[in-house]
Amino acid sequence: MLCPYCGFDESNVLESRDALEGKATRRRRECVRCAKRFTTYERVENIELKVMKKDGRVEDYRREKLEKCFEKACWKMEADERSKLIDEIEMKLLNWESVEIPSKEIGKMVMNKLKDIDEVAYIRFATVYMDIRDVGDFQKLIKGYKKHK
Ligand SMILES: [Zn+2]
Repeated sequence: MLCPYCGFDESNVLESRDALEGKATRRRRECVRCAKRFTTYERVENIELKVMKKDGRVEDYRREKLEKCFEKACWKMEADERSKLIDEIEMKLLNWESVEIPSKEIGKMVMNKLKDIDEVAYIRFATVYMDIRDVGDFQKLIKGYKKHK
């Protein structure tokens, strides 16, 4: 487990707690080198999260799906960097109040990450994942991005 501040790979566990009904472990850690504290979520088994689609259908969460979207939207990004982003999003998903997460919320989490990284990837992802075909929606999206800047 690498320290997010200095990258050192040794840390002390201060506290361990079950998360998501025992399917993940939440650990509070302290870096041995820089002494900063951070939280990690470690999967005990495959994440059994569900995604609620726009039309109300519920399906199993699949990491591959996010990976595909990221590949399309952030093709300029290194594969390592992409999978790090997805890890961060999965941590957020594990921390969600229920195991059923609306697909729209997942899209928002990704877009919040991309906003700060790459404008083109942000817009590409929005069109791929959020399935935006309507010109009005698209304009709203761009406006939202500019507001953020
Ligand atoms: Zn550190």
